[in-house]
Amino acid sequence: MQEKIKQAYKLLDACRLCPRECGINRVKGELGFCRAGLLPMVSSFHPHFGEEPPISGSRGSGTIFFTQCNLRCVFCQNYPISHMGEGREVSIEELAATMLRLQGQGCHNINLVTPTHYTPQILEALILARQRGLNIPMVYNCGGYEGVETLDLLEGVVDIYMPDMKYSNSKAAERFSSAPNYFEISKKAVKEMYGQVGDLKIEKGIAIKGLLIRHLVLPDNLAGSEAIFDFIAEELSPQTYVNIMAQYYPCHMALRFPEISRRITHREYIDTLKLAKKKGLSGGFRQVLATINRSRIPEWTEDLRDP
Ligand code: SF4
Repeated sequence: MQEKIKQAYKLLDACRLCPRECGINRVKGELGFCRAGLLPMVSSFHPHFGEEPPISGSRGSGTIFFTQCNLRCVFCQNYPISHMGEGREVSIEELAATMLRLQGQGCHNINLVTPTHYTPQILEALILARQRGLNIPMVYNCGGYEGVETLDLLEGVVDIYMPDMKYSNSKAAERFSSAPNYFEISKKAVKEMYGQVGDLKIEKGIAIKGLLIRHLVLPDNLAGSEAIFDFIAEELSPQTYVNIMAQYYPCHMALRFPEISRRITHREYIDTLKLAKKKGLSGGFRQVLATINRSRIPEWTEDLRDP
């Protein structure tokens, strides 16, 4: 672990922690695309009951929200944190203590939200927390725009990877996240994650290890869902746990982009679920599909009903 920490900090000298490869010296306080400095910044931490059922369980997921982001999507629902830097710097000691506090509150796991740009600091805090008794699974909850070199350092450290797969459409990825190569990068990253942890393993309703992919449906299929489902089914595993999310709404700067200035419709969501099923995927979203029909729409999708 000490060697991993050393290697991870080396990546900050001319920062290449993520595929942006900004090349700036984070150790000297220079800021790159993500605007992250040397010390980690945390916006909030608490037991979270709104994650996927095997992640939240009955006692909550011990969520730590990191400030800043290496994607900065124009429609980000957490934009005060990811774009505007809401949060405060914490020491490595404090971060380790936060992990232990969440474990002490009974959380099923430590859920690192948007951790990519603080990987070395998180590794350092984690080793400290482990030495002091941290023993619950570590969840790496990221945007999917990750470098394999950095992910290599997380092998044997992260138990559950929870990446987004946001776009297969490079024009959308460029327009909304300034990352035209998003799909190519995320495919390599998610393959690496899958190689490290495999399919999601759930014991007594709680995830203990594995991969969980999130996919947010965008209006007019701008995310390019089909190619993402093809990749998951053919290059990972049809059993991959996939959460197909309906909660898109035009947030932050999205209203400046006419094509994403509305919520998705109920029809768009159902069609995306059916597409995933047709591609042979079987994990995660199937329960949602089984529950939804015109006469019994779950509360959380009611506002997606066609006019
Ligand atoms: S972590 Fe931040 S500074 Fe480093 S390469 Fe990625 S975006 Fe640039």
